Amino acid sequence: MSTYDLIVIGAGPGGYVCAIRAAQLGLKVACVEGRETLGGTCLNVGCIPSKALLHASHMLHETHENFEKMGLMGAKPKVDWGKMQGYKAETVGGNTKGIEFLFKKNKIDWLKGWASIEAPGKVKVGDTTHETKNIVIATGSEPASLKGVEVDNDAGIVVDSTGALSLPKIPKSMVVIGAGVIGLELGSAYARLGAEVTVVEFLDAITPGMDGEVQKQFQRILAKQGLKFVLGAAVSGVEVEKGKAEVKYKLRKDDSEHEIKAECVLVATGRRPYVAGLGLDKVGVALTDRGFVQIDDHWQTSVKGIYAIGDAVPGPMLAHKAEDEGMAVAEVIAGKHGHVNYDVIPGVIYTTPEVASVGLTEEAAKESGRKIKVGKFPFMGNARAKALFQAEGFVKMIADAETDRVLGCHIIGPNAGEMIHEVCVAMEFGASAQDIALTCHAHPTCSEAVREAALACGDGAIHA
Ligand SMILES: Cc1cc2nc3c(=O)[nH]c(=O)nc-3n(C[C@H](O)[C@H](O)[C@H](O)COP(=O)(O)OP(=O)(O)OC[C@H]3O[C@@H](n4cnc5c(N)ncnc54)[C@H](O)[C@@H]3O)c2cc1C
Repeated sequence: MSTYDLIVIGAGPGGYVCAIRAAQLGLKVACVEGRETLGGTCLNVGCIPSKALLHASHMLHETHENFEKMGLMGAKPKVDWGKMQGYKAETVGGNTKGIEFLFKKNKIDWLKGWASIEAPGKVKVGDTTHETKNIVIATGSEPASLKGVEVDNDAGIVVDSTGALSLPKIPKSMVVIGAGVIGLELGSAYARLGAEVTVVEFLDAITPGMDGEVQKQFQRILAKQGLKFVLGAAVSGVEVEKGKAEVKYKLRKDDSEHEIKAECVLVATGRRPYVAGLGLDKVGVALTDRGFVQIDDHWQTSVKGIYAIGDAVPGPMLAHKAEDEGMAVAEVIAGKHGHVNYDVIPGVIYTTPEVASVGLTEEAAKESGRKIKVGKFPFMGNARAKALFQAEGFVKMIADAETDRVLGCHIIGPNAGEMIHEVCVAMEFGASAQDIALTCHAHPTCSEAVREAALACGDGAIHA
């Protein structure tokens, strides 16, 4: 048994990044992970496998819908589901092995097993109690359950996101409960693979919290791709009979009761923090009323020397938010000044087209009483997007009416998830819309649409 400077519990993007940064800063570090592989939800059953399926299904869509338009003739490919699952597994495996390599390179001990905290400075894994000066809880989250709905990932009929990534076959029909990011990404992937997908959502709009105009355009585009939407509907239960599921729901506007049958039901009603088995009540680590680990401005819990980050603490449940917190808390523990700017955390939906946003929505900016300018530019005016058959979206920039400072940006369009970062950098530097508008952007790129939206905050876009 050795004494560590830091034991990180959980090797997701929060935990493994924290461990690496702490080791780089000269600390003696161990990371406990109960899963067989490193990388957490993100690498094993989240970001990475879902993006592999989204990419493969997007490629299929391109061959079926757009190849002939470009003069690319030939037999249309069929899906070999086993091989597609193999591609997904290989992508995941390559990435999880990569973290193992980084642990070795940075001399981080991987303590294999499930950890509990015996006391501040004492972490038990299996039968061994390890001593450490600091502990970081990075145990992540798990899919939230829904009353009246029993998930059975092995049966593959009523599944959560983990089950949906490894279905035994592509279902002919699928009901997605919840029109959030995960439901829409996986729903759109299966729709492109041939499933008839219906999304049932409690609220009256998809992707709650997103800019209203983006929500509407996004729904329109997904509907054109074949997804059906039932909004304002409260699911009361799911019954499984003879290998088929029946989803019962009530429309909130008139209390009328309905049902839909499907081969597969994906429950995507959000995620909740996972801290089971850690023994937090025993050591006195306080939780919020929603079950997140309560932290102060330096990610310290209510117990000195025990910190928490990532999905286990309040804030957006995103891998890059967890990573930033991981780096920052490692710096705090090493005696430096860790910092996360929570106002500039991008959010991306990896559908086709992608949806990306950062900062304030128009609604939130107005609600805060700020005077704002809105610059909008449609991808119809962008030559590159038209060549990609992805000209349906737009870039919308929000700037302060008096100072011109960029307050937010919302993009629905090709590679939006890559384009958003120039706005993130601009916001970190406190840039104005004019700063972006005066920056030369290469032609022909989709990023020119960002510049045009910035121009639209001033004297006007050129190509609109
Ligand atoms: C389908 C899906 C798609 C997603 N796509 C994206 C995306 O595109 N972009 C994005 O930013 N986010 C995405 N997310 C969210 C992202 O995966 C999470 O925000 C991120 O993984 C959180 O990181 P974390 O380090 O806090 O926790 P996690 O990644 O959940 O890792 C926590 C780890 O801790 C381990 N653990 C828990 N308790 C213990 C214990 N007691 N002892 C030892 N180990 C323990 C767990 O086994 C787990 O491996 C997606 C999520 C899902 C489900």
